[in-house]
Amino acid sequence: MTPTLLAPETTSESRTGGTASAASTAISPERIEAARRLAAEVAQKVKQDLRMGREHQQGRINWITAVVMALFHAGAVAALFFFSWKNLAAFAVTYFFAINVGIGMAYHRLLTHRGYRVPRWLEYFITACGTMALEGGPIFWVATHRVHHQNSDHEGDPHTPRDGTWWSHAGWIVSGRALHSETALLGRYAPDLTRDKGHVWLSKYHWVPLTASGLLQIAIGAALAPAGHAVLGGLSMLLWGTFLRVVVGLHATWLVNSATHLFGSRRFETKDDSRNSWWVALLTGGEGWHNNHHAHPVSARHGLAWYELDVNYYGIWLLSKLGLAQKVQVAKYDKSNPKPAGVL
Ligand SMILES: [Zn+2]
Ligand SMILES: [Zn+2]
Repeated sequence: MTPTLLAPETTSESRTGGTASAASTAISPERIEAARRLAAEVAQKVKQDLRMGREHQQGRINWITAVVMALFHAGAVAALFFFSWKNLAAFAVTYFFAINVGIGMAYHRLLTHRGYRVPRWLEYFITACGTMALEGGPIFWVATHRVHHQNSDHEGDPHTPRDGTWWSHAGWIVSGRALHSETALLGRYAPDLTRDKGHVWLSKYHWVPLTASGLLQIAIGAALAPAGHAVLGGLSMLLWGTFLRVVVGLHATWLVNSATHLFGSRRFETKDDSRNSWWVALLTGGEGWHNNHHAHPVSARHGLAWYELDVNYYGIWLLSKLGLAQKVQVAKYDKSNPKPAGVL
């Protein structure tokens, strides 16, 4: 910025002062200082969009977040002492709705990238499923992820492993400031959602579906328990269907930010470090085909080969067969010469 801003000054002085060397001595210190200040202001404005990177986010530990995370991890460990097939079923059903339907199909492929369209009532329902993952409301999640795509593995990326593996996995949640102080910036990245009263409501009250489902699990667990064991039955189903399920879901999602920017293969030469990881894809229902996704972000389908299991896309495909999903975007590329979208 500085040379561009100083250049006109030098030229005008050159005209009045004659030679270039005379011009350089003719510029007053005040004018140089003013130009320097202007350059700093412009640089500051440019930097505002890069505030999500670790350099600007690193702060003290978010104690509320840290305590909630610690409690959920303690509950997850406790769950392991209360295994039953009923509790495992509660885990599987809630995991499917929160992580596959909620995070993969709704938060990520529908709301963030608009890879397909569904009726408004269905959009709200599957978004409510996403809130059950305890990954924040849709506006925060979508905006953060759009910033990740804009600056992937460069300055301003909220969670690149280039800033540290732990930072990219959970450090940015526990000690970053994004959740608390970047509301205005994040809102700019999700204007489609901040204009939508339903999504504003779901963002504000994102804890409601999780709480309601927890109470439901207590009721079902208690009802299915043998006589005299209602309390144990209810609480142990809560441990599996909420605490253990949330923790496994959080780490599965965080692995997309950490592991799939570190380990795996690359089909496409993208400008970031994204990779295709079969085991993260298994845990997340297809989100692990992350190099495919960074190369073709709008594609509702992330697994681009028959052997790349993509449960979340199968869900979207099913919705389209039922007439509930329209305009489903699917990446097309030349298998002999794979290139990211927009690259000729
Ligand atoms: Zn990524
Ligand atoms: Zn994405």
